[in-house]
Formats: sequence, structure tokens, C-alpha cells
Amino acid sequence: MMQLGLIGYPLGHSLSPEIHKAALKACGLQGDYSLFPIPSDDLEELKALLARIRSGEIIGLNVTIPHKQNVIPLLDKLTPIAQTIGAVNTIFMQNGLLTGDNTDIPGFLADLKHFIGIQNSKNENRKLALVLGAGGSARAVVYALVGDGWKVTVAARRSEQAQELANRYSVHVTNYASLYLPETTLIVNTTPVGMSPNVDVSPWPAIQQFPPNAIIYDLIYNPSETKVVREARTAGLPATTGLGMLIEQAALSFEIWTGCNVSREHLYKAVGTTCLE
Ligand code: NAP
Repeated sequence: MMQLGLIGYPLGHSLSPEIHKAALKACGLQGDYSLFPIPSDDLEELKALLARIRSGEIIGLNVTIPHKQNVIPLLDKLTPIAQTIGAVNTIFMQNGLLTGDNTDIPGFLADLKHFIGIQNSKNENRKLALVLGAGGSARAVVYALVGDGWKVTVAARRSEQAQELANRYSVHVTNYASLYLPETTLIVNTTPVGMSPNVDVSPWPAIQQFPPNAIIYDLIYNPSETKVVREARTAGLPATTGLGMLIEQAALSFEIWTGCNVSREHLYKAVGTTCLE
């Protein structure tokens, strides 16, 4: 019986159990994926849960808000990618060491490339990205984009947060008042603006047009069509939400824990959709 799970708080909306239970079934493995809601200040509960990985009772855990940084001092080792980003979303035992990895980065990049690939875009070689927000997921997105050769501008309402990213990755910084960069070929929303239940708001200013050749990638996956994605599609631009990233990062974590590379199509079906939506 392979016990897996997710640490975070709150966890009511999580799609991860459906995805991982489908992965277990697809790989012919007996197991379960449970939610472990632990408030951000409950370090003792966090330590007790991690002890269950050390003992072998739990094989692996995913980590989400607010614990992606909190868990780091409690681990023995980080993979280079988790070390660089300073955030962990996957925990497992490796050579007797409690290890933290980050599959958000390859998960985002794999899904972005898949999405760009199905657009037949003429802009493939013009890699000019605008990232909205400068929080935890922005760090992973900026790291992934810079590593993939994109020239990145970060727009944030707190300039010191954006400046920290700029210092680390030599990206440009702007603010929401000067967002219109007409050459932009990719806009990534990493803010929670538009996430359920506040679905009637958009991170893109209402008075502002989208750059004419941009693809819009919204990390939010609930609702299945966010306001910014709907408006971009209405303006004739390719746009997607973050379900593909969620599926990719889950599949990569699952492979780390079990060695099984599960078909993505199978995981999309588990959450009631298909790959190309
Ligand atoms: P975070 O660390 O809290 O960062 C959020 C960022 O958004 C911060 O820079 C914050 O700025 C900014 N922000 C918040 N409200 C804003 C507003 N009203 N206007 C402008 N900026 C605002 O959160 P996160 O972990 O990066 O997550 C962000 C979103 O990404 C969430 O919706 C999450 O569900 C989604 N996500 C999806 C995936 C996936 O697999 N698809 C993975 C990770 C995250 P301040 O600091 O000024 O508040």
C-alpha cells in the first residue's frame, strides 16, 4: 500500500487526490493520496508528518501554500532546482535522506511548450515574456523562462518584491501603470487575481489592450476559464489556464515517487477534461 499526500492550508479545493489516485490506478499500484491540512504556524504537526516519510509509512508528499518554504529547514537535502528557487513541492526519501524537489518548474515549462506547440505560432523565436506578480510561483516561472531563453519583464504592485527577482535573474521590472509592451509574445499571470470564488476580476487592466501577438498563460486552474483567459480569447489571442501545469507537476512528482511515467491524457480524464482544451 503506497501512501502519498499533500501538505498545505487550506486544501478544500485541491484536485491532486483525483489526479494521483488516477495515476496509481493507471500504473497498477495499490495506494492512496490523502490531504494533510496543516496551518502555517503548526511546525510540530509538520515535523510529525515528515517523520512518517522517514519511517517509510508515507512514500511521498506534495507541498503547497503556505509550506513550500517552511519545510526546507526540516529536510536533509534539496535538489539543485529546489535549492536555487528556495521552494519545495515534492518530498521523498533518497539514499536515506529526506529530500525536497520542485516539479513546478519543469511542469510549467512542459505545459507552456505544449501549448505554444499546438498554436502553430509565428512568434516561436521572439521570446519576450511579461510575468504578472512576483510571489512564490513567479519565482519558478521566471527561473523556467529565463532558462528557456526568454527575455522577461516582471510587473508587480510591490516594487521591492519584483526587484528581488530582478536582482536574481536579471529581468526587467515594471508596474501596472506601464504594462503595455506591444512586442510581448507571452503574458503569464502568477497572481491569484481571478481565482475562484473571485472570478469576476482580471489581473490585466480593463482599459488596456493586449499586445497583438501575445499568448496568455494563467497559472490559475479554478475556474476552468478565468476572466483574463476569456477576454484574451475574445480578443482573438491563444489563452490557457494552469490545469496543464498542475497535471505535469503532479505526473513528475508521481514518477519521482513510483518510477511510473503515467500518460497525461489519463490524468486529464481524471479531472474531467482533455489535453487540448
Ligand atoms: P503568492 O506567493 O502569494 O504570490 C502572489 C503574487 O500575486 C504576489 O506577488 C502578490 O503581490 C500578487 N498579487 C496578489 N493579489 C494581487 C492583486 N490584487 N493585484 C496585483 N497583484 C496581486 O502566491 P503563489 O504561490 O505565487 O500563487 C499564485 C497563483 O498561482 C495562485 O492562484 C495559485 O493557485 C496559482 N498556482 C498554480 C499552479 C499550477 O500548477 N497551475 C502552481 C502554483 C501556483 P503582493 O505580495 O503585493 O500581495
